[in-house]
Parts: sequence; structure tokens; C-alpha cells
Amino acid sequence: MDATNKKRLQGKVAIVTASTQGIGFAIALRLGLEGAAVVVSSRKQKNVDDAVGDLRSKGVEATGVVCHVSNPQHRKDLIDTTVRNYGHIDIIVSNAAANPSIDNILNTKESVLDKLWEINVKATILLLQDAASHLRKGSSVIIISSIAGYQPEASLAMYGVTKTALLGLTKALAAEMSPETRVNCIAPGFVPTHFADFLTTNEAIRKSIEEKTLMKRLGTTEDMAAAAAFLASDDASYITAETIVVAGGMPSRL
Ligand code: NAP
Repeated sequence: MDATNKKRLQGKVAIVTASTQGIGFAIALRLGLEGAAVVVSSRKQKNVDDAVGDLRSKGVEATGVVCHVSNPQHRKDLIDTTVRNYGHIDIIVSNAAANPSIDNILNTKESVLDKLWEINVKATILLLQDAASHLRKGSSVIIISSIAGYQPEASLAMYGVTKTALLGLTKALAAEMSPETRVNCIAPGFVPTHFADFLTTNEAIRKSIEEKTLMKRLGTTEDMAAAAAFLASDDASYITAETIVVAGGMPSRL
């Protein structure tokens, strides 16, 4: 489908964290092409400027803010700038994550455990605490988990456990924020981005991942963006507290 033909998000305002490249950028672009004003963010000013320029060149209404998701002032700046520019918030996509170590859980340093919790779980909660009073009726929160949340494999084990926590967080927040706000989650399969370089650029590992999918391919950032646009739109107006696995049929759950 050509996203530009669908304008499901006209008049909506969307924040996407960690959105200057990869899955976050693709989500911002898709939401923007569907009519939303998008606020992109990440840690580096140059990446933010480049992403805003790229989005605007494609006809998207975009603003950028530097936001390291575990920095309280940055989170406040992100919300304040959005509200100052657009008046309210309709869509929040919490997409930032870190996977700082490939150690087994029993060998993972406490500082790494803290970082995983801070960025992958706690920052989502704190961002939503800051944003909650600005969310309009009919708003939509989308949390980005991972297929590793269902099956925390070696090298992704503790990262996977934090992604499992997001499945529970989605359900708990959906109950807390209903009926005004829907809260859903996307669990991507493997997508060749910078984040997944260490897996997807190794020919043997890439092939073994492709073999685990029913679709016999890696995911694309556009696959994830399409799911996010659906969940953000009124097409999903009776869907909340759910996780959509976008992983080409990789084993997840019954
Ligand atoms: P990516 O292509 O490496 O992009 C990461 C983005 O996040 C960049 O824009 C980066 O920009 C920004 N960023 C990194 N750390 C940040 C922080 N602490 N605060 C704010 N922004 C930050 O990554 P990706 O693959 O798209 O991953 C996005 C999400 O998808 C993550 O939640 C990841 O767990 C999930 N996911 C990915 C895969 C996969 O196979 N790729 C699979 C399952 C789930 P700066 O450097 O400027 O900060």
C-alpha cells in the first residue's frame, strides 16, 4: 500500500522517541505521511537535524528535539516543545532501547542491569508520566518491545527480559489509561538496522534468523511502521492492551 494514499492521522500530533534512524525514523515517516505532525528525537543534535530535514523534504510536518530518554530535562523538553508547537499529544511511540552487553545474565554487571532497566523500561514510564496530562481523548501509546521478549536468547538474554517487562507494562498501563488512551505494543522480529548489526551483518547468523521465520526474510523498518500506523489510527480503536508480533511468523506464543 502507498502510505501517502492513506491519511488516517490527519490532525494528530505524534512523539516518537529514538527516531532519527532505523525503526523509529520509519515510524515517524509513516505517521507523518499519514497526516500526523511528528516530533522526532534522539541523543545527538546532528541526527535530529538530519532527520527533521529528511522528513520535511518528504512533505512531513516535523519538529526535532534532543532527547536522551533517561535524561529528565530532555524528556521534559520533548513534551514541552511538542505542546508549545502543537498544543496537545495524540500518539506516543516509545521506541528507545539499549543492549549494552552480550554477557550471560549471571555475568552481567550491576551497572549494565541498571542501564537496561533505565532505558528499556523506566524511561517509558517516566515519559508517559510527563505526557499524561497532555494526551487527548482517543490517544494512542505504542511501546516497542521485541520478539526477544518472548524468547530471550543468548546474547540478547537480559535485554530480552526487559522487553518481556514491556509486555506486562503495556497491559498494566492500558488498564490505567483507558478508556481515553489505548496502550499497545509491537514486538518486532529481526530488522537490519544499526542496532541489530552484530546479528544481521553476519551471513551465517542472518541466514539462521531468516530460516526461523515463516516468511523466509528479515523484517523491514517499513513493516514495523505499518503496524505502528495501524495501532495509532482509528482502525485500531477497539484494540488496547495488546502486543502485535511483527516477526514473519517467528515463534512467539499461541
Ligand atoms: P537503530 O536503527 O540503531 O536506531 C536507534 C535510534 O535510537 C537512533 O536514532 C539513535 O540516535 C537513538 N537512540 C539510541 N539510544 C538512545 C537513547 N538512549 N535515547 C534516545 N535515543 C536514542 O535501532 P532500531 O533497530 O531501530 O531499534 C529501535 C527499537 O526497536 C528498539 O527498542 C529495539 O529494541 C527494537 N527492536 C529492534 C529490532 C531489530 O532487529 N532492529 C528487533 C526487535 C526490537 P542517537 O544516536 O542520535 O541517539
